[in-house]
Amino acid sequence: MKQTFLFILAIGILFWSCSKTGQNPFFTDWSTPHQTPPLDKIKEEHYTPGFEEGMKQQNQEIETIVNNTEAPTFKNSIEAMEKSGVLLTKVSNVFYNLLSAHTNDSLQSIAKRVAPLLSKHQDDILMNAKLFQRVKAVYEQKDSLDLTPEQNTLSDKYYREFVRGGAALDEEQKAKLREINKELSLLTLQFGDNVLKEDNDFELVIDNEENLSGLPENVITAAAEAAKERGHEGKWVFTLHKPSMIPFLQYSVQRDLREKIFKAYINRGNNNNEYDNKEILSKIVTLRVKKANLLGYKNHADFVLEENMAKTLENVFNLLYQLWGPALNMAKKEAYELQSMIFKEGNNFKLQAWDWWYYAEKVKKAKFDLDEEMLRPYFKLENVIDGAFTVANKLYGITFTERKDIPKYHEDVKVFEVKEANGTHIGILYTDYFPRSSKRGGAWMNAYREQSNIAGKKVAPVICNVGNFSKPTSQKPSLLSFDEVNTLFHEFGHALHGLLSNCTYPKLSGTDVARDFVELPSQIMENWASEPEVLKMYAKHYKTGEPIPGELIEKIQASNKFNQGFATAEYLAASFLDMDWHSLTEIKELDPIEFENKSMEKIGMIPEIVVRYRSPYFRHIFAGGYSAGYYVYIWAEVLDADAFQAFKETSLFDQKNAKAFRENILASGGTEDPMMLYKRFRGTEPGIDALLERRGLK
Ligand SMILES: [Zn+2]
Repeated sequence: MKQTFLFILAIGILFWSCSKTGQNPFFTDWSTPHQTPPLDKIKEEHYTPGFEEGMKQQNQEIETIVNNTEAPTFKNSIEAMEKSGVLLTKVSNVFYNLLSAHTNDSLQSIAKRVAPLLSKHQDDILMNAKLFQRVKAVYEQKDSLDLTPEQNTLSDKYYREFVRGGAALDEEQKAKLREINKELSLLTLQFGDNVLKEDNDFELVIDNEENLSGLPENVITAAAEAAKERGHEGKWVFTLHKPSMIPFLQYSVQRDLREKIFKAYINRGNNNNEYDNKEILSKIVTLRVKKANLLGYKNHADFVLEENMAKTLENVFNLLYQLWGPALNMAKKEAYELQSMIFKEGNNFKLQAWDWWYYAEKVKKAKFDLDEEMLRPYFKLENVIDGAFTVANKLYGITFTERKDIPKYHEDVKVFEVKEANGTHIGILYTDYFPRSSKRGGAWMNAYREQSNIAGKKVAPVICNVGNFSKPTSQKPSLLSFDEVNTLFHEFGHALHGLLSNCTYPKLSGTDVARDFVELPSQIMENWASEPEVLKMYAKHYKTGEPIPGELIEKIQASNKFNQGFATAEYLAASFLDMDWHSLTEIKELDPIEFENKSMEKIGMIPEIVVRYRSPYFRHIFAGGYSAGYYVYIWAEVLDADAFQAFKETSLFDQKNAKAFRENILASGGTEDPMMLYKRFRGTEPGIDALLERRGLK
């Protein structure tokens, strides 16, 4: 996942005692190595004054642009805007990164207070009639202005952003839009907070050793340590965090307990308590339709998709349905196999959703003699990180050196300096990989500072990768599941996109590309993670240092299409659900659960599989930047499967392909049309075959 900050925000009054702003690190130049944020010095009380001053400064900059008596030019209007708001960006980047990765009640309440103000600030800019006139003037004459392709794209992007932000509306409509944006900013924030609360509140406490049967030793140790942390010393605690819940579902023989934890997971935000998200999400959907209508679109999906490669709902549904039939068929076959395993064990109950992981693990063991736990010893976190770094080094010549002198916000964070083969500084990468209650679930990449280079002023990127992977225990280092290995490579791919960016303007740099293009650099990295040649480089036993045996690699290869029916159906169902919510053209009184059930019925989802994210905890679409956009992963998979073929056809580290991928995709950001960039790399548009083949859906 690539996170974006949502500057969709409402009204409130900021109170802060402002006397000694001189002490505020946001108001000084950073003298840290590579001007990284002084995360050890930034305190909670610095944000509100930082935001306020940041907005004030940008308002003054906008005033100067608007009051310029010269005729509008690219430089005095578009580029001038691109150079504005530096302080606000500086504060926002630190604040929103920490709000996700290391939050607390105080940050959450600042977020709620500042959301309406930022929403208003953004609306003030986008609905500033005089400013829009200047943007429009440049846009209309851009073809005669002798602009670079990047400047051309930027002019276009600003113009569209203003129109989509309400610049062309009349005053009454503008007021309505402001009200909607304000409400949305708070509702989406509340949605995410509620999921975090529900994640942290649940615990499955086990006080009887018998109830641990089936669980691998490292899972038991981790559960004992979690119990200790949570004040249940001598017992075992399982939580809804993935590294705790998934192994429980895979291995616990206690069917009733599997059911308990699974149901807790799928009912987050749906417990009719203070954290219930049903009403909130209904309001979000309703407001999005209103906003789309106000701006002249039939629904929210149309509003979102015109900015993506897919362009239309029809194109998205075409791809989803093309895959849905084969995926569902395969999922049904898999369910049959799991059910047969249940009978074979002498049971006669019907396979339920909370049985899937457990029996899938058993069938996998029977079919391929492969157990997830056999792999973990070869995937010590440090070795996997090393593997990702080695792949990047072999492809692009870049190096990663740990820096102990750069400030960080938590002891789990590691800081790396990234350099070119010739030693030139590229940027900084923070990694933060273990779950804690101050971190939201999932894995993501983001920027503390984006790369840019306006008028020769080089700004080097500061990027982070955050995850929730298996923690070390008192007896063992962090040993990852193969899924976690893929996630690490995925997020690292986003990080490379941010780090290797070579653009002029921040608005077009790094991962600021179409939503359905942004997952190409991340997903393509997952391909290297599982190539035998690469596995031999980094998958080394954590005790002996022995590389993973060829026999185990063969088993991984043989089983890589196993359970793909489940994985594809679970994912596609969530994509359909997202599109169903966001293609609504009018909202009547609707019950979100009933709506979701109908959406699943429509595609014929089988009851043994639950949609990957149910509506009340579907953060991607109700609290993140993926509304009408959850489909992007499969869209980008068409691209990444096709792109990786280029390396399969030559060699895994083919330098010509690596150079072309770096230049045309990783370095180019959103400076040009994504399909054009892709064709420049690959020579032709991508086909769907490589994807079908890979998922075994052909
Ligand atoms: Zn991603």
